This record gives sequence, structure tokens and C-alpha cells, in this order.
Amino acid sequence: MRHSPYQPGWLLPVAILATLTAQGLPAAEIEPPPPTRTQVDLIGELERPWQAGGEIVLFAAADGTPRAGRLAQPPAHAGEERARRAEHFALARKVNVVTGARLPPQGLPLETEQIELLERFAMSDAGAVWFREVADDTLRLFNQGYLEYDAALWQRALAAGETPRLSELISGLLSETGQFAQDAAPFRLFAYDGTGAMAAAASVRLGTRGFRCRFPVSGELVDPLAVLSHEFGHTRYGDPRSAGQPLGEALTVARYENPVRVRNGFPPRGVYYLRVDPGRVPIARVLPGGGAAAASHPVWGWYCECQGEPVTLRSCPEPHADGPPLAAEETCVLRWLAVRVDDPQHGVSFRRRRRSRLS
Ligand SMILES: [Zn+2]
Repeated sequence: MRHSPYQPGWLLPVAILATLTAQGLPAAEIEPPPPTRTQVDLIGELERPWQAGGEIVLFAAADGTPRAGRLAQPPAHAGEERARRAEHFALARKVNVVTGARLPPQGLPLETEQIELLERFAMSDAGAVWFREVADDTLRLFNQGYLEYDAALWQRALAAGETPRLSELISGLLSETGQFAQDAAPFRLFAYDGTGAMAAAASVRLGTRGFRCRFPVSGELVDPLAVLSHEFGHTRYGDPRSAGQPLGEALTVARYENPVRVRNGFPPRGVYYLRVDPGRVPIARVLPGGGAAAASHPVWGWYCECQGEPVTLRSCPEPHADGPPLAAEETCVLRWLAVRVDDPQHGVSFRRRRRSRLS
């Protein structure tokens, strides 16, 4: 029979140490996951020697039920860092990767190749940062008693004086407590019918038709891992309000996509082409406002799609926030905004940044 840790909350570090020592486990400083999320600073994280964070460890609370935290020590070598990244992905496979049941509306299960791509990303430096954040969510859910775990395995491990990995202990399903908790909302990775990738605050989705080789309009080469990092930048681990807005997209490319492109040998993107569907998004909504605000916004190009064989793209007059979109001709519709992407660290070239220790 499976149980969940029924006592939410956290213990004082002293109590944790005492519990561990009593079991003969190495006394070490264990840190709980941060109580709340903060927006990922990917550029800063990539400057650090390691990205996966502390090793996840389990320990018994005073009542014998398991809790999860992280050891404070950095990894001794690349192999340990790799093991931490692998454990984060193992946790994601159980809790976050949607393959069969539990499909959200309009969601599709991830195919094997898509899961392999996510794994490659999780093992990369940038992916390690994002999946560390996803894992911290899992630690918080577990310590709140929201995740189902194998109580028999936990008892056997305690009797043997060792602890299993968290990814071995949990089933990936919510416990009974978790199913009724308002705040139990695991992040989800799933597929949709389409091309590329998309994000919402609590999900990243991959298109069943894979990635394009080149971005539309600009023709720049696509780096799928950098696109994944871009999408994570739109989630609750980055800035969930940034998607589909000119400034938000420009910042997402600068903060979360370009650093990965450069590490992977792709040139940084200097322009982001935002496709606007006038049928769904009124053009006024994507304008940051008129007057002075409009003068400083990062949009410097307006492009219309003009009907014909083939469909052509041409410059459009700039529309006004309070008026209907203008078009060069009757058969043309404003569809694309060219958004300038600035390097967030002025004067520092993306190219000079350090490369991965694992590559
Ligand atoms: Zn975006």
C-alpha cells in the first residue's frame, strides 16, 4: 500500500542533522528547496561552474516519513554534476513528462524522440538550470505530502540503513492529499499537433512535426535546445507574462535563447519576428502604447503578408494603437513585427562567454 508524507512543513536543520546521524548517514548540511520560485537568471547561472544545484537527498522525519532536501556541497567532478542532472530528468519523467493518461485538453503524449530531445536538453548546462527548477517544485510537492510514494520501499531502505533516490521512491502520481490540494499543480511537458514549441506558465509543449530548420522571415538557423530554453523563459520559472509581447519576446531571446545559441555555436539572434494574427490578437494589444512609449519600444519593422502566388512579405506602414491596422494594399495584412534584441549585458559579447565543463 502506498502512503504520502502526511506532515507538511519543514524541519529545522539541526533536527535534520540529528535524524540523519541517528541513522548512521553522513552528517551534512541539507538545504530545503527554496520556499518560493524566483525568476531564473540564466546568463548568471551559466557563468557559474555548475548548474544542477545540490544533490537531492532523502531523510526520515521524526515520524519516520521521508523528506527531501539538497546537500550544499558542489559536485566534486563532472560525473557528479551529470548524475544530478540525470536525477532531475528521472524525476521529470515521473512527474512532468506526459506520455499516456493524464492528458490535458488538446494535449498529445510525447513521442520517444521528443523525450530524448528533452533529456539532451536536461543534460545540457542551460537545461540543467531549468530542470533544477522543475525538480525543486517536485521537492516542494513531496515535502507537502502531495506526491505518492512507495512506503514499503522506504521502510526497507530505512531498515537497511540507506536511502533510495527520490526518483525511485515516487510513482509520479499525486497522493490523495495532493489530489485535493488547491496548490498542487505539477509542471507539464507534453505534445501538440504542430511545429516548433510553445509554452504557458505551467507547461512546455513540443509540436509533433518537430522543429523547422530555419526561422520564418529571418531565415536564421534554428537551435532546438535554444528554442526550448526560450520556451522555459515563458513559464513560471522565467517570466510568464513575456509571451507574444514585443518587449517580452525580445527580452526572452536575449536572456534565455541567445546565451544557449552561442554556447552551441549558433550566432545570437538580433531580431525576433513576432507573428501577429489580427483575427485573434488586436494589433493595439501588442503595441506598448502611443507617444513616448512607442518611440522607445523595440519594434522597428512592420511587415505585411500579401496574397498571391506565392504569398509575399513587404514593409507596412506603422499602425496606431487606437486605430485599425494599416496595410500597403487591399490584399495585404499586417502579420509580422520585427523586434530588436539587445544584448542584456552591454558591451559583453555572447561569444566570449565560457563554455560548458561537460562538453
Ligand atoms: Zn517566445
